[in-house]
Amino acid sequence: MKTAIGIDIGGTNIKIACVSEKGEVLEKFTEPTNSNDIIQRVADNVRKFIKPGVVGIGFGIAGIIDRKRGVVLESPNIAGLNNSPVREIFEKEFSLPVVVENDANAYAYGEKWIGTGRDFNTFVVLTLGTGLGGGLIYKGELFEGPMEVGHMVINPDSSGRFCTCGSFGCLEAYVSGRAIVNRVITLLEEGAKSILRDCCEGNFYKMTPEHVYKTALEGDNLSRDIFRETGRYLGIGIASLINIFSPDAIILGGGLIGSWDLFIEELRTEVFKRALEPLSQNVEILKTTFQEGSGSIGAAGLVFKTASKK
Ligand SMILES: [Zn+2]
Repeated sequence: MKTAIGIDIGGTNIKIACVSEKGEVLEKFTEPTNSNDIIQRVADNVRKFIKPGVVGIGFGIAGIIDRKRGVVLESPNIAGLNNSPVREIFEKEFSLPVVVENDANAYAYGEKWIGTGRDFNTFVVLTLGTGLGGGLIYKGELFEGPMEVGHMVINPDSSGRFCTCGSFGCLEAYVSGRAIVNRVITLLEEGAKSILRDCCEGNFYKMTPEHVYKTALEGDNLSRDIFRETGRYLGIGIASLINIFSPDAIILGGGLIGSWDLFIEELRTEVFKRALEPLSQNVEILKTTFQEGSGSIGAAGLVFKTASKK
């Protein structure tokens, strides 16, 4: 049986999957992203997946990619990967074809290949994780370019929140796992009341987005407000995407998608208030059906796609 190895390198986790031509995950492995020796550790783990029938290795990496050369030009969330010639290293090491894509683009391809996007011609995928990624399927094909929706400016004032890209007021500084945590910490520092004050044995600087999600489910007002605010800002961003691309659907995925019920109402309200009605009235806003790992599945799918073109 032909298989491909798909690897999703995000700001929080590295996911490796061995995937069949039908998109079934046959084997998988996840470990936290640690900025030391990423390439070496991924190579060591990939070696365990190499078996007869593997036709290639696909990467989805959070950052700006030179896909012709297979080089990570800049990865704001994973500094250890800047300027890494990923394709060259892995082609040499494993003597297999290697495809390198941006992680959200790989995710978008996975959605078109076997996911929620299968029946849509044009759609935007947004991945809510440590940062905010975006990918575009336009008229059935993956847009092979940077789709840095996270750095769309939604607040031009000097009060705009700082972003990892060095600018301020970017959507990602309002809508991402990091943004949620930073916002909660700021409010706690200002004296806000929340059960999160006691999390991490009183050292709330160690908080993760999962803590905020859990306390929101427990009814903590501050946590619930943060998710509603996240939905509102994401809705502002999505309204612009609808006005620009006139998609059939917007598909949301990523590590924070479990919190869907906590933000979707505000998100929809904002989208339909702001986007032009003839463009927004038929747009479906959908949750990914992938439980996890669409990035690694999509990266493997890109390997099959590239192999079929040769
Ligand atoms: Zn930015």
